[in-house]
Amino acid sequence: MSILTPSDHGYEDARRAAVWNRRIPNENPDVIVLAETADDVINAVNDARAAGRKVSIRSGGHSWSGNHIRQGATLIDLSRMNSIVEINREAKRAIVEPGCQGTLLLKELMALDLFFPVGHCVGVGIGGFLLQGGFGWNSRVYGPACMSVTAVDVVTADGELVRADENNHPDLYWAARGSGPGFFGVVIRFHLKVYDRPKAIVNCAYIYPAEVLEDLFTWAGEIGPKVPIQMELILLPHFGFDGGKEIPVAGATFADSEEEAREIAKILETSPVLDRATVAMPYVPAQMEDFFGAVHFQYPDNHRWCPDNMWTHASAAELIPGIREIVRTLPEDPSDTQNFSHLQWMNWGPNHPDAPERPDMAFSNEDEIFLSAYAAWSDPALDETHSKWAAERMRGMEHLSTGTQLADENLSQRPSRFMTDENYARYDEYKAKYDPDDLFHTWWDRP
Ligand SMILES: Cc1cc2nc3c(=O)[nH]c(=O)nc-3n(C[C@H](O)[C@H](O)[C@H](O)COP(=O)(O)OP(=O)(O)OC[C@H]3O[C@@H](n4cnc5c(N)ncnc54)[C@H](O)[C@@H]3O)c2cc1C
Repeated sequence: MSILTPSDHGYEDARRAAVWNRRIPNENPDVIVLAETADDVINAVNDARAAGRKVSIRSGGHSWSGNHIRQGATLIDLSRMNSIVEINREAKRAIVEPGCQGTLLLKELMALDLFFPVGHCVGVGIGGFLLQGGFGWNSRVYGPACMSVTAVDVVTADGELVRADENNHPDLYWAARGSGPGFFGVVIRFHLKVYDRPKAIVNCAYIYPAEVLEDLFTWAGEIGPKVPIQMELILLPHFGFDGGKEIPVAGATFADSEEEAREIAKILETSPVLDRATVAMPYVPAQMEDFFGAVHFQYPDNHRWCPDNMWTHASAAELIPGIREIVRTLPEDPSDTQNFSHLQWMNWGPNHPDAPERPDMAFSNEDEIFLSAYAAWSDPALDETHSKWAAERMRGMEHLSTGTQLADENLSQRPSRFMTDENYARYDEYKAKYDPDDLFHTWWDRP
């Protein structure tokens, strides 16, 4: 374990390394604890409480907002607690530490013909990802990844290590599935249900010119409810290699057989502007490395990022004016050789007839379509304008929104609901029970 304070050599490096986004909050924890064991975490919590300092927590560091970089806090950095403790092939169970990256977990599981809906990008930590819900690969089939958490081992505000599951501390278990950065404890181990590896993993991808935006989104809205649950359909207006705007349409498909995958893939051939596609890959057997590589290309390291998002079930006709405005105004950075700002439209479909029933858990706000706008730039001089863009665009479409997803939260600029009213009330009750003195930092803001 290492403990760093602002005067220590290595403190600033540790503070910066705690956030993947290069846009790091201008706040300084009083203490950074690089924990390696459960005892390190217990001691850090007890020391912080005794010193009257609040606690923030980092696992993989992929919080866009750098939620855990807080002035005067004890930052418990769990990135060194990154082991896959156990995988039980027969029982289809795994135990994982929070600093483990989803990519690495999935690699180990797939070697055993198993699968888990980890996040789409290289580097996303299991810790924050599972606590906030977790839209992972093939998540439409399994539900948000937190639905596959069967228990958590938690260090509570009074420094006790407890197991929370359906029977023990069920209220803590409830909160660990969806309260995200508001969770009032330090999770040091996740117990997971894992799945059989899908037999056919297929990439169905097209790229369209931006001129057909209206046709494409109208079509996507129409087919959305009919898209088989094993396909995650994403439209991603962005900048192409030539600097012009284009619209990739991707349908990652996870099926039980090649035959089934081929059948599913056909839905993307119903596009009314199929003949305008500049790239068409109707059916390409894929490795997960291909998917991670393609997504990571869209989210390169060493950039400054600011997203904002909304859930919606509005019609394409209602959404298109806002989408058009987002695409028209995608932020650019002349100092970058390629611009990476983009919009993501995802067909989520929690009401699809094959979607799994949601259990009673904090995660409780989702809708048919997920829209997320991401501003990316490198030059700090653009912070002022570019960091406002995503929230401004989402504000313009707020009348069509049914809330926000914590994954791409921007609560400090635009608070929006991410749980039901009933769940906010339950959260407050449980937080008061487990963390009566507000030891743990929570969301930047909440509606
Ligand atoms: C490039 C990129 C791609 C992404 N792709 C996806 C995606 O495909 N699907 C998706 O759902 N989300 C995605 N996200 C969002 C991401 O899942 C969330 O930001 C998540 O919180 C990251 O987890 P982490 O452990 O890496 O983050 P961290 O920044 O370490 O944690 C986020 C917050 O969670 C809390 N926290 C973390 N660990 C613990 C713990 N062990 N105990 C208690 N509280 C804790 C803290 O408040 C912390 O600030 C992506 C983010 C990025 C930057």
